[in-house]
Amino acid sequence: MSKSVIVIGAGFSGIASASVLAMNGFKVRVLEKNDKAGGRAGLFADSGFTFDMGPSWYWMPDVFDKYFALFGKKTSDYYDLIRLDPSYSFYFGKGEKVEVPADFEKLLKLFESIEPGSAAKLQHFLSEAEYKYKVAMNKFVYKPGLSITEFLQPELIASAFKMHMFSSFDSHLKKFFKSKKIRQMLEFPILFLGGTAKNTPAMYSLMNYGDIKLGTWYPQGGMYKVVEGMVSLAESLGVMFEYNAEVTSISAAGSSVNKVKTLNREYEADFVIASADYHHVEQNLLPENFRSYSEKYWNSRVLSPSSLIFYLGIDCKLDGIEHHTLFFDEDLDKHASHIYEDPSWPEKPSLYFSCTSKTDPTAAPEGMENLFVLIPVAPGLEDTDEIREKYYRIVLDRFKKITGQDIEPHVIFKRSYAHRDFEKDYNAFRGNAYGLANTLLQTAFLKPKMHHSKLKNLYYTGQLTVPGPGVPPALISGQMAAELIIKSLKQ
Ligand SMILES: Cc1cc2nc3c(=O)[nH]c(=O)nc-3n(C[C@H](O)[C@H](O)[C@H](O)COP(=O)(O)OP(=O)(O)OC[C@H]3O[C@@H](n4cnc5c(N)ncnc54)[C@H](O)[C@@H]3O)c2cc1C
Repeated sequence: MSKSVIVIGAGFSGIASASVLAMNGFKVRVLEKNDKAGGRAGLFADSGFTFDMGPSWYWMPDVFDKYFALFGKKTSDYYDLIRLDPSYSFYFGKGEKVEVPADFEKLLKLFESIEPGSAAKLQHFLSEAEYKYKVAMNKFVYKPGLSITEFLQPELIASAFKMHMFSSFDSHLKKFFKSKKIRQMLEFPILFLGGTAKNTPAMYSLMNYGDIKLGTWYPQGGMYKVVEGMVSLAESLGVMFEYNAEVTSISAAGSSVNKVKTLNREYEADFVIASADYHHVEQNLLPENFRSYSEKYWNSRVLSPSSLIFYLGIDCKLDGIEHHTLFFDEDLDKHASHIYEDPSWPEKPSLYFSCTSKTDPTAAPEGMENLFVLIPVAPGLEDTDEIREKYYRIVLDRFKKITGQDIEPHVIFKRSYAHRDFEKDYNAFRGNAYGLANTLLQTAFLKPKMHHSKLKNLYYTGQLTVPGPGVPPALISGQMAAELIIKSLKQ
């Protein structure tokens, strides 16, 4: 008889777990509190505009390829990818725009024009980053981190130093580049995915290899096309999705979970995978005596940022911005200190604009643009309409100052999103957007564990456990949780 599994949550990690298990003959049911799949990678359409609500950077295409290949499929069976060129742009001030070309030779020329001698240094920096990327992908990232012994292999110990695990990204960058502009250009993937150059190990320069060498891509129709593709694949394997099915408790007897309850029903299964936020599952769904981590533990974690987001429908075309544009015209370090050192609303925030209608005609009516504006902010901040409005005005003013365009009269649709929405929509601890930051002390076996210490049929996946925040890590995390279950049956 096939074994049954309940997966709590239909984000990337939950769908990945469900699909791998279904392919291996398990009977899988996914319970999702919201009315559709995707989790933080939601989608909405209004007034003719379409918005991806969360992720907008399709990075590490190899991880998506590898995921679909597990099932004998290709990404192109589900969506069409285009490589963005420029990959993205920065504004370091009015008239100080830097477009990052997809072509590597052009990028080398760009670096050289900013800091003479930096082209050769970039090549050296990226050859190290490539080594880290390959070691991480082949030896580290797919390890569940249940115990330190997984990493105690001579080969891995030897590579730890070459991986630069014990130095900071900040000091690593400073060894290569004098130009602050260049350092900020290489630092931003870390900032926007949950860390600062100072608190992130230099190992994560692997992200720069992923970004620069493997490219920035866009699935035509938007990031939600990836979710649709994954759901369609999961359903074809027999996964059952139940929406509007919020889990309200998990009960246990002895050393096993015996029931998962929603408001209307009770379910039993041989295994449970929790892909909803780890903190929520532990603190709100499990009986107190089965919690592996205390509230004190969670409060001592370094969370990735939350975000204040504006989804704007603009009734004209916009100049001076691309698909991805970053406004680094204000002090980035100061902004980061408002996230990590002194959690508070930043006075002069750095801004990220995503305008997918620059690439995708289906995202906005003809002659118009869909503008997504994101400000990374500390989790757990007070989130009121007044504060959001204050930042809306900051966004409008900065956009006008930097690009010379007054968009205010052209905004025909506006929606804001921040902490209280993350909490309401995803049960997100302190309204976090991306889970736990990738600090050294929150890496691999030092993250909350994928397997419950007492309940042998309860597993965790998603951005608060291994390997960490981001869509590719969520896909990997989902596969690993499924494989742990499959392996447990072989023992
Ligand atoms: C604004 C934003 C921008 C981002 N940008 C990028 C980017 O550009 N590139 C990138 O790679 N990553 C990006 N990320 C990160 C990435 O989106 C996430 O790391 C990833 O989607 C997390 O997937 P997950 O499966 O771990 O969690 P989630 O997507 O949160 O899925 C968990 C699911 O569990 C459900 N759930 C919660 N509680 C319950 C319950 N009690 N019962 C049933 N279901 C429940 C939730 O509704 C949700 O659907 C971004 C994230 C955000 C928020």
